[in-house]
Amino acid sequence: MATDLVSRLSLDHGGSILLAVMDGVGDIPIPEFGGLTPLEKAKTPNLDKLTQSGALGQQLPVGRGITPGSGPGHLALFGYDPVKYLVGRGALAALGIGFKLQHGDLAARINFCTLDDAGVILDRRAGRISTELCTELVEALKPITIPGVEVFVEPVKEHRACVIFRGPGLSESIHDTDPGLVGEKPLAVIATASGAERAVEVVAEFISKASVILRDKTPANGLLLRGFALHEDLPTLKDRFKLNPAAVALYPMYRGVASLAGMEQYQSEPADLSGEIKAAKNAVKDGKDFVFLHHKYTDSSGEDGDHERKATEIEKFDSAIPGLLECGFDVICITGDHSTPCPMKLHSWHPVPVLIYGGPQRTGWSTRFTEREAASGALGTFQGHELMSLLLAAAGRLAKFGA
Ligand code: ZN
Repeated sequence: MATDLVSRLSLDHGGSILLAVMDGVGDIPIPEFGGLTPLEKAKTPNLDKLTQSGALGQQLPVGRGITPGSGPGHLALFGYDPVKYLVGRGALAALGIGFKLQHGDLAARINFCTLDDAGVILDRRAGRISTELCTELVEALKPITIPGVEVFVEPVKEHRACVIFRGPGLSESIHDTDPGLVGEKPLAVIATASGAERAVEVVAEFISKASVILRDKTPANGLLLRGFALHEDLPTLKDRFKLNPAAVALYPMYRGVASLAGMEQYQSEPADLSGEIKAAKNAVKDGKDFVFLHHKYTDSSGEDGDHERKATEIEKFDSAIPGLLECGFDVICITGDHSTPCPMKLHSWHPVPVLIYGGPQRTGWSTRFTEREAASGALGTFQGHELMSLLLAAAGRLAKFGA
C-alpha cells in the first residue's frame, strides 16, 4: 500500500503506540525441542494473554524469500519501504558505532588488509587483527586531512573500521576497492556513474595518504574500502505520520536506525529490560505517542545457534510485559525485525509473527504468540512496512479514505 496515502490520512491525535521488537525472534522447528520453535517451547503466560485479547499475524520484512539485515528490517517496521529507502552498508557501519551521520556524508567500510611488497593482497582481513590494534591504526589515520572535506575515521571491530567524508558534492557511485579475493592488488578508485568525480578524488587522496601511514605496519599494512553510502536524511515519523516518537534501545546500531526515523533517544538505566521499561515510561510521561523498544538477545542467541538461550530470552521478554502494560500505551505491538533460526545461525527470510493488542481487533483467533499460530492469525500475512498503518488505525490515528 502506498505509504503516502497513509501519510495523508494520518491524524495528529489519537492513542499512543508501543512497538516492541524482539530482534530475530522468528525461528524454525528445533529437533532438540521435539520440533517446537523457541517461541513454542518458551513459557510465555503474558504473551499468551495478550495474544488471546489481541490479533496475531505474520509480516514479511522485505519480501518472500528475501533475507533482511537488521537495518532494513527495522526501517520496514517504522513504516519505510526498505527497498525504496536504502541505507547503505557504510552508513549502517557508521550508525552501528553511534556516529551521527549528517545529510550528504559519504560513509564507507574499511577492512585493514595485508599486502606483499608488490602491493598484492595476501590477507583481506590482516589475520583478523585485534580491536585494540584496529583502534591504534585508526588513531594513526585520524590526522589525515583533505582540503574541502572533513574526514572521520572510526574503529569498528577486529579488522573493520569505517571512514566518513563530510563536504559538498560527494557521491556514493564509487566501486569498492576490495577485489574480494587474495592474489590481486586493491582496485583503483573508480566511479560507477557520472557525477562522482569529486568523491573519487577525495577517496583516492584518502587511500593514498593512508597507504603511506600504514605501509611499514604489520600485519595490517593496507586498507580496502567498500559499501560506499551517501547519507540522506529520511522523512521522519513526525513528517510522515504526525507522531512524536521515541526509541529505547541498548545497542548503537538500533539507536542509529531509530534516529534516522527522527526518534528521540531515551537512555536505559540499568542497561537491561528493566531499564528499558523505565525509559519507555519516561517517554510516555514526556508526551511521546510512539515508542520503539528493542530486545537484542533473541537475535544473538539465534546467531549462536543456542536454542535454549533463545527460549530463555523470549521468557525474559515475556516477564517484562506487565511492566510494559503499566506504561499505559493504547496499542502494543510485539514482533521481530526478521527471523534468526537457531539451526541456521543466520538471519533468514521466514515471516515474523506480529501481535497487535489494543484498539478494535478480531480477537479470539489465536492463543499463543508462535510462528504456527501467526500463519493463520486474524491479521494474515502482510509486508513489514504495512505494519505502521495497522498500528495507526488501531490507535485511531488514521482518517477515513474518501466520502
Ligand atoms: Zn535484527
